[in-house]
Amino acid sequence: MSRYFTEKYKELTPYTPGEQPQDKKYLKLNTNESPFPPTTRAAEAAYSETLKAELYSDPECVSLRNKMSEVFNQDPERIVMVNGSDEALNFAFMAFADEKSPLVFPDITYGFYPVFAELNHIPYEEIPLKEDFSIDVEDYVGIGKTIVIANPNAPTGICLPIADIEKIVKSNPDNVVIIDEAYVDFGGESALPLVDKYENLLVVGTFSKSRSMAGARLGFAIGQEKLTADLNTLRYSTNPYNVNRITAAAGIAVLDENDYYVNNCKTIAENREWTANALKNLGFRVLVSKANFLFAESDKISGEDLYIKLKERGVLIRHFTKERIKNFNRITIGTREQMEKFINTVSDILRETDGGNAAD
Ligand SMILES: *Cc1c(COP(=O)(O)O)cnc(C)c1O
Repeated sequence: MSRYFTEKYKELTPYTPGEQPQDKKYLKLNTNESPFPPTTRAAEAAYSETLKAELYSDPECVSLRNKMSEVFNQDPERIVMVNGSDEALNFAFMAFADEKSPLVFPDITYGFYPVFAELNHIPYEEIPLKEDFSIDVEDYVGIGKTIVIANPNAPTGICLPIADIEKIVKSNPDNVVIIDEAYVDFGGESALPLVDKYENLLVVGTFSKSRSMAGARLGFAIGQEKLTADLNTLRYSTNPYNVNRITAAAGIAVLDENDYYVNNCKTIAENREWTANALKNLGFRVLVSKANFLFAESDKISGEDLYIKLKERGVLIRHFTKERIKNFNRITIGTREQMEKFINTVSDILRETDGGNAAD
């Protein structure tokens, strides 16, 4: 830290992203990316915009929002496009949470929530998940605070039904409820149909997971006009060109080929079920996931040991050090071949550590 760093950020602990090692080729199952690349049509759209990169992008993202409107069946005025949904979360926390309406979220959830809260000096409270890692909906009913819930939750993968989301939104009319739907396309239920009914609901989504665009940075927030106007006030006060023209064009192409991505999600969901069964056969406890990852633990090997031994063998998964989940790992679901390799490697590791009894 330099001696110039201001007081107000001295205590800030930044978010730790999952490893993106460049040293060798890993089987990368650690940051919930899609195993399927975008189509050449998205690449061609990006190429032609690169030839116009001397011009600023459209700060209103008109074409992209019109396309979004068709696919998500929402008025374009209700859609804000952002540079990855992390940016929408940051803007939403800035806009809708403060001392009068502090932020609440589960104790086990996306690690960026407390970081954005601290960055913006927003008081926050973590509400423990139940013993089985599910959300106790009653904890949030009528709480009178700004709520953010990832649904499906990360890193657990557990999903709340839309009726529960509605209960939370309805019972907190004076506070904004932010539903982070980064993983909804892998089997969750979207809260978007509720947007029309509730002025305090903001749904946040991303192209990073189900739409194969993690490296292009594209996300969105959808809510009633007054909420999106507030987000735009912050966006125009930060960086009106937050979505670059190359990404915007690729995003339109991706939405044009929605079926390809929907089909990829289906494949990933099938591979998830296959992997969950294979892990259970190896003695793992696997939480029920509706996302593109599994959260699993074993009493035969610690979470950290498994993570390290897999890494030595060229397989990356995500390990968290937080006490309550330190025996778990989060495993991104890839192609069937990748998951077979993962399961075979885990099985080898267990056999070694177990003296040959693991494969029984
Ligand atoms: C990956 C993820 C995001 C956002 O990612 P972006 O790449 O910034 O769109 C948001 N919320 C959760 C829970 C995530 O896992």
